[in-house]
Amino acid sequence: MNLLKVENLAVHYGASKALFDVNLVIGEAEVVALMGRNGMGKTTTIKAICRMIAAHSGSIGFAGHDLLALPAHKAARLGIGLVPEGRRCFAPLTVRENLLASARPGHWDIERVTGLFPGLAERRDQRAGSLSGGEQQMLAIGRALMTNPRLLILDEATEGLAPVVRQEIWSVIARLKADTGLAILVVDKSLRELTAVADRAVIVERGATVWTGALDNLSPDLTNRYLGV
Ligand code: ATP
Repeated sequence: MNLLKVENLAVHYGASKALFDVNLVIGEAEVVALMGRNGMGKTTTIKAICRMIAAHSGSIGFAGHDLLALPAHKAARLGIGLVPEGRRCFAPLTVRENLLASARPGHWDIERVTGLFPGLAERRDQRAGSLSGGEQQMLAIGRALMTNPRLLILDEATEGLAPVVRQEIWSVIARLKADTGLAILVVDKSLRELTAVADRAVIVERGATVWTGALDNLSPDLTNRYLGV
C-alpha cells in the first residue's frame, strides 16, 4: 500500500509557478530518491508535503488521510519526520534537550538514537551550537527520528560535509532501511550512494515529475539531461 501519494501537485510563490505537476508515491518501507538539478522543485515538494507552504492544487495522501484537507498541526501528528535543508537545531540547547524537544512515544528514544550515532552519546550535555557540521546533521536526523515518524524525509542531508561524515550518514540510512523498515524520501546529489540505497527515484524538472524508476535503469543520456552529470 502507498504510504504517501502526491498527485498533480502545484505550488506557486506569488506569480511564480514553482511546481505544476509533481507526482510521487512511496510505499511502506520504501526508500525513494527525489532528484533533479538545482531549483527544479525538490525542496518545494518537501515543504508542501510537510505543510510548510500551501499547495495551489493537486492532492497529497498520507497513511490514508487527505493531507491538504487537514489543518497543519493535525497533519504534523500523522508521522512525517523532516530533516530540513541546513539542519536547524536549537543552538543554545544541549544535544539531549534538542532530542527531547521533538520526542514522541515509540521505538525511537534517546538511548536508541544515541546508539545509532555514538558521537552524539559522548556529547549529550554539550550545546548544539558548539557541535561540528556533521554532528549537527546527525542531531537533526536524531531529532526527526525522535518524533517516531512513519516517513523520514532528508533534504540534502550530506551537503557540505566531509567525506567520512557523509559516509556515516549513508550507512545510517542503509541501517534504517535494513533494520527498521522506515519509509524514507531522500534528496541528495550523490548518484552513486542513492543508487545503492534507493528502491526508486523520482526526477523533477522545472516543477514536474519527468521520470520515475530504479536508478539502475536511468540511461546515461537521461542522467545527463535531468541531472546534468
Ligand atoms: P535546490 O537543489 O537548489 O535546493 P530545489 O530543486 O530544491 O533546488 P526549490 O528550492 O524547490 O528547488 O525551488 C523551485 C523553484 O521555486 C525555483 O525556481 C526557486 O527559485 C523557486 N523558489 C523557491 N523558494 C522560493 C521562495 N521562497 N519564493 C519564490 N520562489 C521560490
